[in-house]
Amino acid sequence: MESVLKKHFGYSTFRPYQEQIIQHILDGNDSLVVMATGSGKSLCYQVPPLISNKTAVVISPLISLMQDQVMTLKQRGIRAEYLSSAQIDSTVQSNAESGNFDILYMTPEKACLISNSFWSKLLNIGICLLAVDEAHCISEWGHNFRVEYKQLDKLRDVLINVPFVGLTATATEKVQSDIINSLKLKDPYVAVGSFDRKNLFYGAKASNRGSSSVFELVEEILKCAANPGSIIIYCTSIKDVEQISKSLLEAGVESAIYHGQMASKAREESHRSFIRDEIRIMVATIAFGMGIDKPDIRHVIHYGCPKSLESYYQESGRCGRDGIASNCWLYYTRSDFAKADFYCREARSVSQRKAIMVSFMAAQQYCMLRTCRRKYLLEYFGEICAYENCGYCDNCAVPKKEIDISKQAFLLMACIKLCGGRWGLNLPVDVLRGSRSKKIVDAKYDKLPFHGLGKEVSANWWKILASQLISFGFLTENLNDVYKTISVSLDGMHFLSSCTPDHQPPLLLPVGEEEHK
Ligand code: ADP
Ligand code: ZN
Repeated sequence: MESVLKKHFGYSTFRPYQEQIIQHILDGNDSLVVMATGSGKSLCYQVPPLISNKTAVVISPLISLMQDQVMTLKQRGIRAEYLSSAQIDSTVQSNAESGNFDILYMTPEKACLISNSFWSKLLNIGICLLAVDEAHCISEWGHNFRVEYKQLDKLRDVLINVPFVGLTATATEKVQSDIINSLKLKDPYVAVGSFDRKNLFYGAKASNRGSSSVFELVEEILKCAANPGSIIIYCTSIKDVEQISKSLLEAGVESAIYHGQMASKAREESHRSFIRDEIRIMVATIAFGMGIDKPDIRHVIHYGCPKSLESYYQESGRCGRDGIASNCWLYYTRSDFAKADFYCREARSVSQRKAIMVSFMAAQQYCMLRTCRRKYLLEYFGEICAYENCGYCDNCAVPKKEIDISKQAFLLMACIKLCGGRWGLNLPVDVLRGSRSKKIVDAKYDKLPFHGLGKEVSANWWKILASQLISFGFLTENLNDVYKTISVSLDGMHFLSSCTPDHQPPLLLPVGEEEHK
């Protein structure tokens, strides 16, 4: 194994798990590999064919990614090619049938469409493994569900004794078991690496939407750009991409842009100029995604709440691959949280809708978090985290000012409780602010003792307080099939029971100053 590693890849030692995974494959076992981007997953399926002299078949979702990999492998003297449904030329296929490749990549569509006779010819020559890259795409609970992946289970019936390997950079336990079931992995060896990217600083800031926030963002980008290294700004809409790139240009800084509605030539050009360091700043939607193997990205800035924590982890994880200290900042506004319905449009079933909502809520929680961000991320991915304070995220590194908000917390929580806990946040806030909307009058909430007592501050102020009380564990958001409701948690009830309208025990909450303007 080690001589192959040295001869073909020029490395002298394996990274954690690589050797065990390769050994399991050579022994004919199935595996599931969940390891961070850049940790060396590809090597796990690239080494076995060179030892066994059989072909490795690798399913990969993107043609551009396969092209890159094939090119790199060829430079290393490894016989690699790819097959996609778009190809007309059949020479690759017939060469593959004769066992002329060490590694054969194909898209999931191609793998499902290709004839059984192809598979039986290849089986006769020898297949050492079938790898499914970006395996989280198989799960409705993953952040990037793809229907084509769902059909890959067919391959298990054709390639009965071939070791299957699912690989992904991000998978919660639920997604892991989905991958195991969908690919019908038999008693797989499961290798889960740590999700802790110690060189990444995590932070999030609440901002207001509109020109002032673009201005603030541009200022921030300019500060980052004063130091070496590249920067990616992820936006949630094409409009924001264009706006920010334009504002940067007005400030005298050139940036590349990338989004799904650009012609593919323009996109490739943009990608290339970024990878080659001709342009250091990329403003993009998440279409700028897989296959960005650039070591010196120093900042990944999200402008807008991401659609899931999985995608946030993956996108921010493109930062600092070389191990040097790098920053992942997220700018959000509460209005971002109204995007759930937009993301749910992709859902094809009730269960998928629910999965999308749950992932999106985790991302929202992350935005509003007052405790260690790293701990939250790690625990979300099922990793046990020994510390409370990592010292390297905004919440740990910069202690926030504390103010006593017991009176307001009491009002809000009591109001939510009296409204029965079956509404979203807007209704109790409207009650506090004295609204006499039809809904409120019909339910007689205008007769509640708290009606109108919270007029002196804005609805937004109350909503920020609510998000703090959620992260404090006093309020809980619940998801029914259609919308989110808010209710007082058990801890919140304890607090309420120690309050009277005139007296509340002190409740200190850390407050970001900008949030209480
Ligand atoms: P992943 O697929 O997990 O994102 P890659 O397989 O692309 O990661 O590997 C990331 C980088 O690490 C690549 O440049 C690869 O050549 C390098 N690498 C992989 N394994 C080793 C190793 N054992 N020693 C040194 N470098 C390695
Ligand atoms: Zn921390």
